[in-house]
Amino acid sequence: MNKWFRNWQAAVAVLVTIAVLGIFMAGSPSRGIADSVKGGESYTGKTPKYIFMFVGDGMSYPQVSSAEMFLGQQAMPGKITPKQLNFTRFPTHGALMTQDSSSFIPDSASTATSLASGHKTLSGVINMDETKTKEYRPITEDLKAKGYKIGIITSVPITHATPAAFYAKVASRNDAYDIGQQLAASGFDFFGGGSFDQPTGPEKDQPHIFEVVKNAGYKVVNNKDEILALNSESGKVVAINPELDGTAMDYEIDRQAGELSLADFVQKGIDVLDNPKGFFMMVESGKIDWAGHANDAAASIHDTIAFGDAIQKALEFYKKHPNETLILVTADHECGGMTIGFANTEYDTFFNKLQPVTMSFVDFGKIFDQYRKTVTRDTAKLEDLQDEIKAGYGLTMADLSDYEIGLLRKALDWSMIPTEERKYTDQEKILYGTYEPFTVTLCHIINNKAGLSYTSYSHTGVPVPVYALGLGDELFDGFYDNTEIYYKLAAVTNIKN
Ligand SMILES: [Zn+2]
Repeated sequence: MNKWFRNWQAAVAVLVTIAVLGIFMAGSPSRGIADSVKGGESYTGKTPKYIFMFVGDGMSYPQVSSAEMFLGQQAMPGKITPKQLNFTRFPTHGALMTQDSSSFIPDSASTATSLASGHKTLSGVINMDETKTKEYRPITEDLKAKGYKIGIITSVPITHATPAAFYAKVASRNDAYDIGQQLAASGFDFFGGGSFDQPTGPEKDQPHIFEVVKNAGYKVVNNKDEILALNSESGKVVAINPELDGTAMDYEIDRQAGELSLADFVQKGIDVLDNPKGFFMMVESGKIDWAGHANDAAASIHDTIAFGDAIQKALEFYKKHPNETLILVTADHECGGMTIGFANTEYDTFFNKLQPVTMSFVDFGKIFDQYRKTVTRDTAKLEDLQDEIKAGYGLTMADLSDYEIGLLRKALDWSMIPTEERKYTDQEKILYGTYEPFTVTLCHIINNKAGLSYTSYSHTGVPVPVYALGLGDELFDGFYDNTEIYYKLAAVTNIKN
């Protein structure tokens, strides 16, 4: 046997071994490529008595990381060190694919349905199939049947798509009155945060939804002292923030001292729901999404930080019940195509430029509306608004380049045309979306100076993160479909599906 033949034999032996090992590993259930079969989760650990599920609407990695970089720059100017939010330090980290039955770019109705009941459906549909005839059962119903108390909290309307997916089944997310009626009929224990859309129905001819909710046995509370006095003896409660912008809570950046925060509602939810049989609480931060639609990076960052503050309340509870609690933090989809990096700032960021921003596009828009009433399209001048721009965004005329001043002059001119008479070309659609041209341009300028930018006024199709801490957290690692969140939660809570 010559040397060449022996080497050839050895090579074959090695190849056969690799092939056999490969087949063995592919068949191994423990590690390797994730199984995409739904409901394949097995969990033999202890069932958590207390479950928190936080949903950052419109929150993917750029929203989380920009908040951490902003905080890092604030705490350690000049250092390239993010200051991590509490939830990104959780022991388990996974990521979700978010496409729905309509599009790779989904909405909150379908994605919250996937999280709550484990099914894909069309954008706009809540807990029903694509034919809008078959209903899906959110996990909250099974948990309620098992004896858990159920809490639903949001910073946007309580009838909005994400919270609704945890208690309602409707063919259209726009049917807010129907959703409100289903809230009343749910029998769930605590609803908190924003108010009801369409309170007297789409035609304004129905009994006020507060009466419907009261008749179903709920206490409706919308004054701060009464909300702060709520406790485990309060019975079934709907607690509505007395300070609202429409039916949603204010952006965190606009929240005044003494105004209730999302964290306050989580604390009250804990106070009301705490009982020996346990509870499930879903908390949505809805305005991370709204800030994304409006391309308002400062508002997005402040609401993401406030989301962390709300999660802190759950963490404090976890520290008292470490062997009985699961905390999940995830999202439904990204919004705005936010990214860290802008053509003109190349490899740098300047998060310090966002520190002087004192208000959201909503509050600046109110100031701008006042100004608009005092001038005409011919008399409006950028220079008139110098003080307001300085107060809102920390920018003086000297801080603005000729290019930026040109953008603002053009936007001001468009803003002076009544909305219904604005005939946009593609260029204006890209520049302003459906927002006030002048205000959204100021947001773009301050974002870009900070080294941030957006690609859209809508959602995008990028994956979103999952962070988990506590009993069963190990099930939530890996990269998987958003419907798996339901199956993993069902496995952890021993719900058969
Ligand atoms: Zn959205």
